[in-house]
Amino acid sequence: MRGFIIGRFQPFHNGHLNVVKKISKEVDELIIGIGSAQKSHTLDNPFTAGERIMMITKTLNNFDFSYYVIPIKDIEFNAVWVSYVEALTPPFDIVYSGNSLVKELFEERGYMVKKPEMFNRKEYSGTEIRRRMLNGEEWEHLVPKDVAEVIREIKGVERLIRLSEKDY
Ligand code: NAD
Repeated sequence: MRGFIIGRFQPFHNGHLNVVKKISKEVDELIIGIGSAQKSHTLDNPFTAGERIMMITKTLNNFDFSYYVIPIKDIEFNAVWVSYVEALTPPFDIVYSGNSLVKELFEERGYMVKKPEMFNRKEYSGTEIRRRMLNGEEWEHLVPKDVAEVIREIKGVERLIRLSEKDY
């Protein structure tokens, strides 16, 4: 059985990792869609699709299961979004999502959608991690160590801070 999960992963954090590890026990292969792949360099979406691919593959290389990481751009056409996703990915049997629009669109097309159990949603949250980065607070313990290394390598925190400055 092959599963599908999509997220923006801005950045990929320990909540995402816990979900992926749990799903990996239920399916033979997992397709991980990098949602809003066209977005980067904004306060809500600071990292490029390529940087998010690095975060995920470097982290998941430490685990023994089969997965695909596929960037998926947004389209302004929700009614055909599921067909669009299907055209970009290997076929899959089950969808995992806590996002109500994703659930609605896939269920309407006959897919079974399972809601992943939330792990420490207060801190394992992209919004909270980006807030901490901007305020100079501790954030590294909320992401896998390979993700912290990627963010250091690409100087991601410095980028976020520059993006928050109105003028230069
Ligand atoms: P996200 O990164 O917020 O979350 C990804 C998944 O991880 C979600 O299922 C969420 O429930 C889960 N998760 C997050 N924190 C967790 C935690 N602490 N513990 C356990 N699980 C946790 O991403 P998202 O908002 O769900 O991404 C959906 C993507 O699909 C977006 O990029 C959106 O633009 C895209 N989309 C596009 C269209 C379109 O183009 N028309 C339509 C629908 C969705």
